[in-house]
Amino acid sequence: MLITPAAHTSRADGPWLFAPARQARRRVRPPRPAPPGAAPPLAAVLFDRDGTLIKDVPYNGDPGRVRPMPGARAAVEVVRGRGLSLGVVSNQSGVARGLLTRERVAAVRRRVEELLGPFGVWAVCPHGPDEGCGCRKPAPGLVYAACAELGVDPARTAVVGDIGADLAAARAAGARGVLVPTPVTRPEEVAAAEDSAPDLLTAVRRLLDPEDAPLGPEGTEGPPAQEPPAQGPAGGPP
Ligand SMILES: [Mg+2]
Repeated sequence: MLITPAAHTSRADGPWLFAPARQARRRVRPPRPAPPGAAPPLAAVLFDRDGTLIKDVPYNGDPGRVRPMPGARAAVEVVRGRGLSLGVVSNQSGVARGLLTRERVAAVRRRVEELLGPFGVWAVCPHGPDEGCGCRKPAPGLVYAACAELGVDPARTAVVGDIGADLAAARAAGARGVLVPTPVTRPEEVAAAEDSAPDLLTAVRRLLDPEDAPLGPEGTEGPPAQEPPAQGPAGGPP
């Protein structure tokens, strides 16, 4: 796949966007029609990076320290297999703190994609918590930027993350949010989550097949709804 190395930024002070060259979006199968009165079918799933897709190593710019979270590869493959768009929305205040560079952030992104496969967009906030930007979660800017890059409606997008700020960003953007807690997720954030799941694979299964496995704390475990497709670097239907 052709990757534009630094892609572009939407504004000088906006989020960093890393995205592959535009390509025809593959459709493995059409989404199920929504029952009357139900939410529209999902078109995209955006994942938080640290503590969600990969283990949280504070301010990590070292690709050698990237370790996927349990079930991450299976979860993103299920989403790809349904033909939905995939993205990452990540606060990286280490940039503002002088601990990370754009190249280090990009190097970690490349390693994550080696391990988990390609994502349609990475929207990264490089600002610090006191800069008042509109992109650092819980603000909605990263979700808006990722949806714009993917060409999807936030109302047909879900955000999966490990802390309350991920869900707040989703809510502010009009997207759905699902919490997959880790041992460091605060109990009040778990209690406040509209939707939660014990692991990533369960989260995406409940998002994609809510009639089979509704979101909530009492969902059931089981095998993926379908076998993930064979995945080459350029993607393609099985
Ligand atoms: Mg996180």
